[in-house]
Amino acid sequence: MTDYLKFQSLPSGRHKDKKHIIIVGAGIMGVCTAYYLVTHPKFDPEKYHITIIESKRVASGASGKAGGLLALWAFPAQIVPLSFDLHQKLSDEYNGVDEWGYRRLTTVSLEGDLTHLDDEDEDEEDEEEDSAHQSDGIVITPSSEKKNDATTENENEKIEDSIKIPVSHDSDSSSSINKPPKKTSRATRQSSIPSDSSFTTNNTATNNNNKSKHTKSKLPTDLNWINSALISNCSTLGGTDTTAQVHPYKFTTFILKKAVELSKGSIEFIIGKVNKIQFSLETGSATGVSYQPSSLKSDYSSTAHTISGDQIVLTVGPWTSKILPDCPISGLRAHSITVAPFKDQTVSPYAIFTEFKTGPYKYISPEIYARQDEVYVCGEGDSTVDVPETTDDVEIVKSKCDELFRQVGKISPNLKKGHTLKRQACYLPVLDVPSSSGPLIGETNVSNLFLASGHSCWGINNAPGTGKIMSELLLDGVVASADISALEPFLYFDASVLVSDDEEDYDDEDDDEEDDEEEEEDVGGAADAEDEDEDDDYHEATETSSETAPSDPEWSKEA
Ligand SMILES: Cc1cc2nc3c(=O)[nH]c(=O)nc-3n(C[C@H](O)[C@H](O)[C@H](O)COP(=O)(O)OP(=O)(O)OC[C@H]3O[C@@H](n4cnc5c(N)ncnc54)[C@H](O)[C@@H]3O)c2cc1C
Repeated sequence: MTDYLKFQSLPSGRHKDKKHIIIVGAGIMGVCTAYYLVTHPKFDPEKYHITIIESKRVASGASGKAGGLLALWAFPAQIVPLSFDLHQKLSDEYNGVDEWGYRRLTTVSLEGDLTHLDDEDEDEEDEEEDSAHQSDGIVITPSSEKKNDATTENENEKIEDSIKIPVSHDSDSSSSINKPPKKTSRATRQSSIPSDSSFTTNNTATNNNNKSKHTKSKLPTDLNWINSALISNCSTLGGTDTTAQVHPYKFTTFILKKAVELSKGSIEFIIGKVNKIQFSLETGSATGVSYQPSSLKSDYSSTAHTISGDQIVLTVGPWTSKILPDCPISGLRAHSITVAPFKDQTVSPYAIFTEFKTGPYKYISPEIYARQDEVYVCGEGDSTVDVPETTDDVEIVKSKCDELFRQVGKISPNLKKGHTLKRQACYLPVLDVPSSSGPLIGETNVSNLFLASGHSCWGINNAPGTGKIMSELLLDGVVASADISALEPFLYFDASVLVSDDEEDYDDEDDDEEDDEEEEEDVGGAADAEDEDEDDDYHEATETSSETAPSDPEWSKEA
């Protein structure tokens, strides 16, 4: 899957004389926006050109490392039904079952008590370790470490030594059930479907394997990879009629590949980091972006380039406020692992939210999603770690991943005997306003500058819907598929507040110096890049100021 995309550092110039749409960020939002643009009836490759600018790699952020749970009971209600339905349609059209692991499944919430088990477990581990260390006087790696010899996802990771930075497991603030703000938690069933009992009835009717009722203390019989003795309560959050899953990395890269195929040469891909938006001095409208080109193998060049566009779409998730400093979207880091079950045994298709007591007033709540060939486990967010410059700079704390493995091993005897495949961390894009859980979708108060960002913990679920909405907005000027009036970015922030640096802040529409330059380098494909050795190490901080664009005519639309 390397040939479908050519990465360039500089624009080819093919956008000239066409309506040029620039998408910044190749996570799931940027990719779905591109896909629905090229499949829109009005899209004509002779008249339109799309440039996607990505600072590192396709799906290198949360879009490649998320759990991939989809639910009709997700939020916000304005776009969930549309998006859930589009996921099904995409899967039907492109064989999502084989291509990206699409399947319907059941979601349960489990409660239980590990307090007792904790002690027994620790004793067992201590004994194991002692005996291992006694063997012939040679220090042998304890089996729990052997299991966890997986490589981490990010080549630029900085693994914290658990001796230097001890993780207080159960008292870790990120693991306490009292901590996570509700809008970053998927476990709460929100009301995009009626709260009547049809949910439970449908679930029972459409899922013969799932014997669970809405609330019960016993596990469904086919959920046999969980230690039932630990469970004090099991409740069903969604059945196969309302819950599904995808492998987010496979989904995103597949949909991008399709978009490129269908675009008939009208999508090009630039690898570079966008630093700021260009505005017209006369109208205050967005006219392009400036960015620092890069390649997969080298650092960012120091020279900034500009590229003009008729419509600019920011889909940079938790990085949004690095380009639009007034935007109230931030990032919350979360760790996750994937686990190979013991002897590659299949695990029945369940997504599991948990809440386990581990001591007086102490709880853990890993989320555990069975996939076709592995199990995904994620922990809660650490709110203390700022969003770094790029996805390559995301710090993966090995001990946090190993703790997730330890937790899931207590809950599942099968997984305890399995081993960690991947350790990873990524940032959830969170909207920091009390009145909304996000996302922000639509045109900002700067005309021609659009945003599709801040999807919190349901971005994989809501990406196809968001892409479709954006395609309608960009090509029709109005959104027919959903009511996004409460999600419009201009309700929440002023996009004319600029990021400052040493360069000129404003650019005339005609001043597009780089457009004349020819394509400079091709540096490989998107999907394979996930595992490539990287030595990029870009740490330059972007300063922000409270300057504003020369005019912000649309800001008067503020609610
Ligand atoms: C641990 C975890 C588990 C999750 N599980 C689920 C789940 O089960 N179901 C679900 O629906 N959602 C889930 N989510 C949420 C979902 O992953 C996100 O909402 C979604 O991936 C956001 O997509 P995005 O495209 O907006 O952002 P991202 O995936 O962060 O992509 C942004 C892209 O922009 C690029 N970029 C950033 N800055 C620049 C710049 N200046 N110039 C150029 N490019 C730039 C980045 O490199 C990146 O590729 C989970 C999130 C986390 C953290």
